[in-house]
Amino acid sequence: MSKQTHSFQAEVAQLLHLVTHALYSNKEIFLRELVSNASDACDKLRFEALNNTALYEDQPQLEVRVSFDKDARTLTIADNGIGMSEQEAIEHLGTIAKSGTKDFMRKLSGDQKSDAQLIGQFGVGFYSGYIVADKITVESRRAGLPAEQGVRWVSGGTGEFEVEQITRAQRGTAVTLHLREDADEYLNAWKLKQIIGKYSDHISLPILMEKEEWKDGELLVPGDENGGRQPGGMVKTGEWETVNQASALWTRPKKDVTPEQYQEFYRAISHDSENPLTWAHNRVEGNAEYTQLLYIPAKAPFDLWNRDKKAGVKLYVKRVFIMDDAEALLPSYLRFVKGVIDSADLPLNVSRELLQESRDVKLIREGSTKRVLSMLEDLARHDTHAAPAADADADGADAVTDVVSEEDKAKEGKYSAFYAEFGAVLKEGMGEDFANRERLAKLLRFPSTTSDGAPVSFADYKARMKPGQEAIYYITADTLAAAKSSPQLEVFKKKGIEVLLMADRVDEWALNYLTEFDGTPLQSVAKGAVDLGQLQDEAEKKAAEEAAEAFKPLLAKLKQALKDKADDVRVTTRLVDSPACLVVKDDAMSNQLARLLKQAGQ
Ligand code: ADP
Ligand code: MG
Repeated sequence: MSKQTHSFQAEVAQLLHLVTHALYSNKEIFLRELVSNASDACDKLRFEALNNTALYEDQPQLEVRVSFDKDARTLTIADNGIGMSEQEAIEHLGTIAKSGTKDFMRKLSGDQKSDAQLIGQFGVGFYSGYIVADKITVESRRAGLPAEQGVRWVSGGTGEFEVEQITRAQRGTAVTLHLREDADEYLNAWKLKQIIGKYSDHISLPILMEKEEWKDGELLVPGDENGGRQPGGMVKTGEWETVNQASALWTRPKKDVTPEQYQEFYRAISHDSENPLTWAHNRVEGNAEYTQLLYIPAKAPFDLWNRDKKAGVKLYVKRVFIMDDAEALLPSYLRFVKGVIDSADLPLNVSRELLQESRDVKLIREGSTKRVLSMLEDLARHDTHAAPAADADADGADAVTDVVSEEDKAKEGKYSAFYAEFGAVLKEGMGEDFANRERLAKLLRFPSTTSDGAPVSFADYKARMKPGQEAIYYITADTLAAAKSSPQLEVFKKKGIEVLLMADRVDEWALNYLTEFDGTPLQSVAKGAVDLGQLQDEAEKKAAEEAAEAFKPLLAKLKQALKDKADDVRVTTRLVDSPACLVVKDDAMSNQLARLLKQAGQ
């Protein structure tokens, strides 16, 4: 078969250009991406071979080999994984199939620095090879296909690629980078090992490199010392050694994993360039047996609000990779969580459909949800370091000095950071996760009329309630500014009563599911006749009654005039400076919710 020339999909050409320019300052990540593709390919083979062991041919030991040729200036990453057919090479290495690509492209600003961050988040994958190479050759054969149906794919990374059929005995893929002039540093075993150690140590397959040993320089003219010496150097020995730890990170005991390794693993699976806020690594035994390694990111991804955004948890069964984005493992309001769950109970051939119905998955989902909530509770607890109550250590006679551990200190401020990024998603849980509603309510935060923008929890609010105050008051509006300046707040301001300001789109909806907090009812200041109960003194009540009586004729006229527009017209005590305001009936939808539903087309 002759060579065929294909054009890259327009987005790929665009991405290629961006990748090579924007990621220039962080070149070495190309190796992480190519090793991770090799590892994915081995995972896929292992998975397909569950139903077809013949795919292993005569090579059941899956591995990745990294080698270089100084003279040819090439670096090769080879795996004996699933490989690609010709058609697959054309599709997978010429287009971007990932969902959200369009979104992603739209977000790019043209500013190198912020784009580099974004690209990292998206996962540049294969194309990152062009940061260091001006030509890439891929040779591959799909497991199960005959040797004659191999494929060679070649491209200089500008617009087009060539594909031809080749004979390739070896199953799997070899990616060869023809290095650019300024990428010499990657023709060095020490440098390569260092990068592999940094980014790919957690990969569960062995990554092999050929051993080198020092060889003294040789006499140019044998036997003649005056003939001069050729300089000594490292030479290849033909023997291969494993250069990574080759055990999946989550299978190692906690004490053997450093925070840096946890963080690097997070960056590898999330494509986030920042460290996570926190993580939890546990082996769970009991009704269900599984290992969970779950991370809370520091920054929301660009597509958090994308409706078909999947959860970020990878599912493994007994260390065999099963699928990415296993949405059945966590509720959708926790879709920002990243990590790995490795089940000992599920069948290896489990499908997405089966997952939805599995009892084991239900247990995993419940356990993982609880784990995430307790991570958040822990961050919330340490967010602002409050001095312990005086009687906290009543059993000790000595004065207790408040010692904050380094670990606790590191958690300060993290919950606010988390909430600023993900608070709105968490609120979805109020409607979605009935069983954990109370725990979730404790994690919610809102600014208030007296907090000067600082987030307030329901518990904080309750602790500050006025004597005689019987409800937690809140107001909803489209924006914080609108909420703050609402005339409905006048009487609360006058009496110095704190009101929670809710200006998030989901607030109104989330609050539908919460009528009280810890025994105290929640009351919208924009609904019905606000009953200030004991907060209103006798004189005020009397004045209001008298006014209502005196204005009866006027009210009747107003009611008549507004009969198509208003249900009722009342004298109110909730206003101080404004002459009138609109309120909704107690049982009716608030203005805000009505607007929201209208926007949603209902
Ligand atoms: P991603 O890995 O996120 O899918 P990449 O750009 O890294 O994106 O890779 C694109 C696709 O190319 C992969 O999904 C896979 O189908 C294919 N591919 C890349 N490298 C290999 C490989 N070593 N073996 C088999 N397929 C590969
Ligand atoms: Mg990849």
